[in-house]
Amino acid sequence: MIPPLLWVVLLAPPTFAPDTPVGLRCLVESYPDLLCGADATTLRWCDGVDMPWRTRAAPPTDLEAHLDTADLFDQMADAYPVGPVFATPPPGDPGRMRHAPFFKKMYGEDRAAVGARLGTVRWLRGTVDLPLKVSTVNGADRALQAVSDELEGLPAASRRFVEKPSGTFVWRTVKGTRRLSMHSFAVSIDVGVALSDYWKWVKPDAQGKRPYRNRFPMQVVEIFERHGFIWGGKWAHFDTMHFEYRPELLHPACAASTPTTPRPAGSGPG
Ligand SMILES: [Zn+2]
Repeated sequence: MIPPLLWVVLLAPPTFAPDTPVGLRCLVESYPDLLCGADATTLRWCDGVDMPWRTRAAPPTDLEAHLDTADLFDQMADAYPVGPVFATPPPGDPGRMRHAPFFKKMYGEDRAAVGARLGTVRWLRGTVDLPLKVSTVNGADRALQAVSDELEGLPAASRRFVEKPSGTFVWRTVKGTRRLSMHSFAVSIDVGVALSDYWKWVKPDAQGKRPYRNRFPMQVVEIFERHGFIWGGKWAHFDTMHFEYRPELLHPACAASTPTTPRPAGSGPG
């Protein structure tokens, strides 16, 4: 039998040296099932694998090359603005820089590995009741079910944005790139495509800038965020149909602002 004091030690969250980057702390605290520690330069997975915080001194200046080669530092560099108040157009693309080896190790190296760890979310189960395949890793399926259950209670004017979901699990690259989409890892969902705005659909103005557009109500966004999902509508390269499970970016120590409503227990970092 394990003495009570030892349980406290075994179950205690990791402690961090003062020189640990806050981005690494947010990662470890947001994915406690898989990440067990960090120091100034390294993320430590619970299976003993180490992953570098930075893979180079400075990223490439070209945005596409930067996105193609993002490391963990880049992944955490843009602070995500939590809550209904954010600059439009937003100042960056918080969440769009992703270190592919991190997500492959977390959710699966290929289509079969991701597919072996799927659960079923019953989308708007009291009305639409559509089964969706979502990763069980990190409890992402439970988080999305909680989102769905709350969305179902919204007034019709807001609910219509989420009544037609499309892709959750699709192993594919981001259109026009060689980068894997977060839909490959079964932790993303697109909703209300017909009511959505996407930066590539907007014609550039005379200066080559694409004006920000969004029709989604913040009520919908707030529910997703409270359960650990970021919204593509908060990217300068906006994609308003898109939500993905990224609790590390909503962690109070890493987000750009404080959530407007308290997080319920067990729904991610708090
Ligand atoms: Zn999407």
